[in-house]
Amino acid sequence: MIKTRGPKKGECNICGNFTDLTEDHTPPKGCYKPRAVELIPITDHLRAEPPKKKQISQNGVKYRTLCGHCNNNILGQECDPDLISFTNSISTILKSSINLPPILNIEAKPQNIMKSVIGHLCAQGVGRYQKGNITLPIKNYMLGSEELLPEEIKIYCWPYPYSKNILVRDCALMDLTIHEPVILWLMKFFPVSFLVTFNEPDPYKFSVLELSRWRNTKFNETVTLPFNINNVPHQYWPEAPHDNTIILYGQEAISSSEKRLTNRSSNAPAVLDSF
Ligand SMILES: [Zn+2]
Repeated sequence: MIKTRGPKKGECNICGNFTDLTEDHTPPKGCYKPRAVELIPITDHLRAEPPKKKQISQNGVKYRTLCGHCNNNILGQECDPDLISFTNSISTILKSSINLPPILNIEAKPQNIMKSVIGHLCAQGVGRYQKGNITLPIKNYMLGSEELLPEEIKIYCWPYPYSKNILVRDCALMDLTIHEPVILWLMKFFPVSFLVTFNEPDPYKFSVLELSRWRNTKFNETVTLPFNINNVPHQYWPEAPHDNTIILYGQEAISSSEKRLTNRSSNAPAVLDSF
């Protein structure tokens, strides 16, 4: 079983306070319509054969792991609206039939988006406040109103025109030509993927938009993000290993997809498997 419900009272995964825990939707509601989803471990998602057992989560993927303040105030009120607005603008443009330029200039608040992404990935996993030496930098970043993204963190994003949601914490990817691993977290959902790396060794070069280039912008500051809609890596990048990489997953690595209805009615949600 993939554990998503923490105890009613416990340690908040962001601030560490022992208090009543609330349910956090990952990704947040507003980025998509939460429906019943099937959860499978990422290792099954990467196999060619479909998994025999699937776990159903009603109303999207949610974790009871955050206190009310971190969940409702910091994420829900302060940061999520900007992640939602960013993803909805991309979604609207991608779904439109107009001829698109390759680079979309999107007005967005990068610090707010990065905080939202980090916060929701922190929510993943029960009893996961302790994250090693990034515990305090992340807590200070999330709780402070003027904190900048910690230096050891980089965040990337790219278009993701696919239906499966991917959530990954505690993954180590090693490019065999580099010899040093990079620790990463991942949140992928239509229409955007986010990759978070920690202490990324220099030789790694991810050729997608680095959101953390705007790490020095103030909270609530708006910039123009050049989002290249033609730069779409493979659907399973970077979670699937290829010739030169080894990848190791911790327990918090799942794939979720909308539960297929056996008798699909005409108003059943469309599933976008390809662009
Ligand atoms: Zn908290």
